[in-house]
Amino acid sequence: SFTQQDEAAEEVERRNRIFAAAQERYYEHPPQIQRGWRHHLVDTTGRAYIDMVNNVAGLGHGHPKIAAVANRQLRTLATNSRFLFRELAEYSEALLALMPEDSDLDTVLLVNSGSEAVDLAIRLAQAATGRRTVIALREAYHGWTMASDAVTTSAYDNPFALATRPDWVHVADVPNRFRGTYRGEGTTAPYLADLADDIEDLQRDDREVAAFLCESILGNAGGVLLPEGYLAGAYAQVRAAGGLCIADEVQVGFGRMGSSFWGFEQSGVIPDIVTIAKPMGNGFPIGGVITSKRIADALATQGQFFSSAGGSTLSCAVGLAVLDAMVEDDLQRNARDIGARLADGLRGLAARHPLIGVVHGEGLYLGVELVRDRESMEPAATEAAAICERLRELGVIVLTTSERSNVLKIKPPLCLTAQSADHVVAMLDRVLSEGW
Ligand code: PMP
Repeated sequence: SFTQQDEAAEEVERRNRIFAAAQERYYEHPPQIQRGWRHHLVDTTGRAYIDMVNNVAGLGHGHPKIAAVANRQLRTLATNSRFLFRELAEYSEALLALMPEDSDLDTVLLVNSGSEAVDLAIRLAQAATGRRTVIALREAYHGWTMASDAVTTSAYDNPFALATRPDWVHVADVPNRFRGTYRGEGTTAPYLADLADDIEDLQRDDREVAAFLCESILGNAGGVLLPEGYLAGAYAQVRAAGGLCIADEVQVGFGRMGSSFWGFEQSGVIPDIVTIAKPMGNGFPIGGVITSKRIADALATQGQFFSSAGGSTLSCAVGLAVLDAMVEDDLQRNARDIGARLADGLRGLAARHPLIGVVHGEGLYLGVELVRDRESMEPAATEAAAICERLRELGVIVLTTSERSNVLKIKPPLCLTAQSADHVVAMLDRVLSEGW
């Protein structure tokens, strides 16, 4: 008889016929997801899963207030941003109010995705400095457009980049103190010394630095925290060389850290340009760049800037509703409390299961790095994939990240409950106890 699994297999086949080979897919036997509610997903058989990867639905799936606002705005006015309407300034002001008080981050440009935000940030930095070179860290993902892909340095996401990377990108070493060039405590100084050498070399080659771009916590690597003082030191060096500092907060920003609203606040720095996206619309596509007026105004030297749907009546209404709901649902506090509980639980597992090399992250951006040997940090990628399949069977959606695909990425909707967090830890415990 025709089973749900046959139906899912048919759907996979249908996709394979019409999709590009490069389009990502997950799982050997992917569930057909039909709906979402809070931090749960439900498939076509009525099976519910705990969604531990969805940082786009930051508020949780199916938030009724966002649906109501989008519905009302679609019936009232859904147009591009060419006209004068109140919500654009209101939303922009609300976003700016989230920035540190002592910063000059006073200007907003709205687009529709993280890739667009990174692309625009690079253009802004190049326009404001009159320079071209952008320093990006190794093993990063920043998007799919020409410019954001050029600074995407992860060999996993961009395997041909070595041959095709434009000459305005300089790739600097990634300060990963768990498995990078320098490991353990006291690695900040050598990583910063290498960055200083890079900047000097670039200057010697007449490639003056326009910008330094990185995630404030290494998201693609699985939520790896930067060595203490690294970001402050890097920003100081780049500024001394006349460059600007771009913080990509698409993944790690927007309350997810719990103890701070933005990732860069963890390092006590203030960027010149901030890129944001994913959770801004809770599933509705919104992206943005926040910078100072001085930098933003430099864009005028390159002509006009206009995005049809960026900053539309609809995205502003949705964006405002998301910000309101974040406060009303007290989600940053929840990210801090449940994130700490989850990290404790996962670190408890690490004490009993040698496959867990280290638990990365902060708040509700965590990464469980699986290794075959804690000394050599040999990545356990096949094990990680199999563990994700097994967790799916047990009703938990977790996927892998890092260019070694050996880190379980944990970035659930911020409404995750203590009960679900404990359940996920229990299920991972069970799977790891099955022997690897
Ligand atoms: N920057 C970072 C750090 C990201 O993780 C992503 C998406 N994973 C992007 C930018 C690109 O965002 P989008 O997929 O919305 O274009």
